[in-house]
Amino acid sequence: MSVPSGVLVLDEVRKVYPGEPPVEPVRGISLSVAEGDMVAVLGPSGSGKSTLLHLMAALDRPTSGSVRLAGHAVEGLPDRRLAGLRAHHVGVVFQQFFLLDALTALENVATGLLYRGEPARRRRRLAVEALDRVGLGHRGGHRAGRLSGGERQRVAIARALVGRPSILFADEPTGNLDSATGAEIVALLRELNGQGATLVIVTHDAGVAAACRRRIVLRDGRVVAREHNGDRNDGRE
Ligand code: ADP
Ligand code: MG
Repeated sequence: MSVPSGVLVLDEVRKVYPGEPPVEPVRGISLSVAEGDMVAVLGPSGSGKSTLLHLMAALDRPTSGSVRLAGHAVEGLPDRRLAGLRAHHVGVVFQQFFLLDALTALENVATGLLYRGEPARRRRRLAVEALDRVGLGHRGGHRAGRLSGGERQRVAIARALVGRPSILFADEPTGNLDSATGAEIVALLRELNGQGATLVIVTHDAGVAAACRRRIVLRDGRVVAREHNGDRNDGRE
């Protein structure tokens, strides 16, 4: 049997929440993401995008099927190993930013390294570098609560990137922003991808999805289309 390649490989992944009746938001999804890729997961509200993102980012385990992240089988790892896998390989950006408003931008970014056991001085140095990468080097000393929405999302992106993860996930990263600011965030994500970052962006915004190299379209927990730039619906992974 050949070893599946890619930073992220999902094989027949399902997620079932028990209940009467049970809810099955992810119903047998297979996909792979190569290093340097920029993939959008697109679909209407309720199609299973966020559930799938949690599974891809090792924030949750599948009910069945397999998720291989940076060569590790997520479904077989105990909690402590799963936390370690996330700390070393995964960055996540959410629609709501989830910054600590009372901390400065720099302190927020440095928290992205807390589970890595890095000494404080090194955390600070890496945080300065990450803030520079998102164009906020001059805002490091500002409290997060005082920043604009676009700046807050940049800080969240810097926090996700500061540990040099193997893959960066974003769930509706422009969902709380006006369209001009959202477009700037998409441009930043493209720039980071151009510098080598591997990105998976979950969105229901067709404009955000169009900026990605590939699109995987979900409906009712299943993949209904796969598109590649310049070659629509070619069925490529
Ligand atoms: P999307 O992000 O595309 O809007 P979600 O993955 O958030 O979709 O949700 C897909 C479906 O799964 C929805 O019907 C939602 O209500 C359901 N769902 C999500 N999480 C849970 C949960 N923890 N327990 C029960 N149902 C859930
Ligand atoms: Mg969602």
